[in-house]
Amino acid sequence: MLRRLLGAVKRPCILCDQNQTEACGVCAPCQKDLPWLARGCPRCAMPWPSHKGLYNCFNQPPRFNLCQTAFAYDFPIKQLILEFKDQGNLAAGHALTLCLAQCIVRDAGPGIMPDLLIPVPSTWRKRRQRGYNPAALIAKDLARALNRPWSPKFLKTHPTRQDRKHQSRQQRLNAATNPFYLTRTKAPCQIAIIDDVVTSMATANHVADRLQQAGFSHISLWALARSLPPGTNNGANTIDD
Ligand SMILES: [Zn+2]
Ligand SMILES: [Zn+2]
Repeated sequence: MLRRLLGAVKRPCILCDQNQTEACGVCAPCQKDLPWLARGCPRCAMPWPSHKGLYNCFNQPPRFNLCQTAFAYDFPIKQLILEFKDQGNLAAGHALTLCLAQCIVRDAGPGIMPDLLIPVPSTWRKRRQRGYNPAALIAKDLARALNRPWSPKFLKTHPTRQDRKHQSRQQRLNAATNPFYLTRTKAPCQIAIIDDVVTSMATANHVADRLQQAGFSHISLWALARSLPPGTNNGANTIDD
């Protein structure tokens, strides 16, 4: 489906430079070598073998309902994401986003597609450094690939401490406990938070808290990769599984 939506375009593989026509921009042999995230808990995306042991989410479930990432945050995904975020390699971000879109389409069930995609905003400092917000580029590409709406303005961060002098005490207290706020409260009911990498989940939990406070009950987290404790991505599946 994704291939039909995007059209097959011949271009160099982002990893080996060979001409290829995969929709995601990574040739089939290179795809097989990528650290696709093994199937795991739909809530926290931890691969099942590890979820049964130390790394489960039973005691502290995430504040969102579903989590999906395409990859484990390992070589060469880690390097590609860092190039995307900090060295302007937008082609890498685009390719990995299309890999994520393929995973989402592969696993989509009835009612699972969100009504709106919202990227986690960058801090003002990072945005000025990079000139773009990586999560917003991911959200834009995902929205196009999946034919869903997205909004770069729905979620924002409170101003940094230096910029807070004109805020009320309550506004400052809110920003101290959760750096995010919503610019709208009326919106479609199912939302996907878009980020580049899932690490501690603290950021996504903050965003999900804000969404829940505004009355949104079905919240997904979609990201390119998930960082994992060493040795927990054994038996990773591929895009075709
Ligand atoms: Zn390749
Ligand atoms: Zn879990």
